[in-house]
Amino acid sequence: MKEQVVKSISKLSCFDIQDVQKDDLERVMVKVLPKRKLGYFCPLCEKTSNSHSRGNYRVLRHDWVHDGQTLLVKVPLYRQRCTTCNLTWTVKWEGIPERGQATEYYKRKVAEECILRSFGEVARDLNLPSSTVGNWFNAYQEVHTGSKSPNLVNI
Ligand SMILES: [Zn+2]
Repeated sequence: MKEQVVKSISKLSCFDIQDVQKDDLERVMVKVLPKRKLGYFCPLCEKTSNSHSRGNYRVLRHDWVHDGQTLLVKVPLYRQRCTTCNLTWTVKWEGIPERGQATEYYKRKVAEECILRSFGEVARDLNLPSSTVGNWFNAYQEVHTGSKSPNLVNI
């Protein structure tokens, strides 16, 4: 299990593992911390910033392990304030979408599952709405084929 967790989290290049817990549903929850960084620069004026708030988190689906168990990642929300223009913003992490409850890696992995299996089957196994699975598959296909029209028909 530990090996799988380390391998999974290595897909998120900006984080280190801080703690591994099980949630109420016995799912594996990995708390991560950003790798050491000198500072976060203002997205507006590119000057230095200070920490504005810490302590909030988002929980996202990130992977599933061999027995089908969902692996969740607990990502910190860092709010920063620019020392020059006073803008406050939330730090963006690579591989973590600004909205939603799944990492980019998870969405891609789900989409790849749909190449050989139906949306419904994948959705059922992962306890996700099949419309969500379909959307992720279509987004993935658009990126990889540059086409919106479903050339790979998924039945
Ligand atoms: Zn600024």
